Amino acid sequence: MHYRPKFSLEVFPPKRTSPIGTIYDTLDGLKGLDPDFISVTYGTGKLKDRTATARIAYTIRSEYGIDAVAHLTARYLDYDAVDEALEMFDKAGVSGVLALRGDAVAGQEDAGVFDHASDLVSYIRSKRPDLPILGACYPEKHPEAKSLQEDIDNLKRKVDAGVTHLISQLFYDNQDFLRFRDLARASGIDVPIEAGVMPVANASQVKRMTTMCSSRITAPVYAMMDHWSDNADCLQDAGTIFASQQINDLVAEGVDGIHLYTMNRPGVARRIWSNVKPLFTKII
Ligand code: FAD
Repeated sequence: MHYRPKFSLEVFPPKRTSPIGTIYDTLDGLKGLDPDFISVTYGTGKLKDRTATARIAYTIRSEYGIDAVAHLTARYLDYDAVDEALEMFDKAGVSGVLALRGDAVAGQEDAGVFDHASDLVSYIRSKRPDLPILGACYPEKHPEAKSLQEDIDNLKRKVDAGVTHLISQLFYDNQDFLRFRDLARASGIDVPIEAGVMPVANASQVKRMTTMCSSRITAPVYAMMDHWSDNADCLQDAGTIFASQQINDLVAEGVDGIHLYTMNRPGVARRIWSNVKPLFTKII
């Protein structure tokens, strides 16, 4: 018997330079994809970040009828700010919170309350005993960890603190994810682990994102970006095929789910979905 893997999407609140309404274009463009949930990223901690994430989550649930997961990064938050965020997320009707530590922002001082995501997970669990809490994981290890095993040992602490579901960082070599999954299982991590897939749609974005998250650009991805360097449309076509094949192979390896980083490009997400949809609808 084959079980159906989860399929989820990620969107982000529009950048300060874009009108807030652009998120509706993104969500409209994602109609018909039928994901298990859409997650909404969170900025660096200020009140307007909480409001933006909560508002978009509310819209996803109420206007599109899709479960919404709100990200929350704790580095710059104290207990009161987390309480306030949780109340906003309750009102928005979220079906879960992705609890994160977040990255350092130059010139901004940590609140010093939540040192690691596991501290935030414990706190949320104490406040919301039944809320699904998601956590991030890193197939190529988090850049601050000395080794993959050290990172997985820390991940186990995060899961033990109350994480019910993991979503991975983007990666371009499925073997990295599968090796990580084996090590995680061997270390006693038994919650579902969704594989994070970011389609290649734009070379400079791929370079920026992989630098930011220390993910490896593999030789086939370099070759693809090089071959289509003077044709943005063809690169997007090739990136769509690559991501669809990546998902096909991951599903064949029995992954728990796929989390598609849409980068607010609904057209790319729709094309990938039309390729891979049968893999997520057949239960044998
Ligand atoms: P942690 O789990 O705290 O891990 C960070 C580092 O600390 C790791 O090296 C880990 O090994 C180590 N560590 C963890 N616990 C311990 C411990 N108890 N003792 C010692 N070391 C420990 N960023 C945003 O700003 N907004 C977002 O919306 C956002 N969404 C994301 C979604 C996903 C799926 C992923 C994968 C990342 C996302 N990020 C987001 C980025 C994330 O904030 C960064 O990767 C950040 O550097 C780490 O966050 P974390 O929650 O994984 O941290």
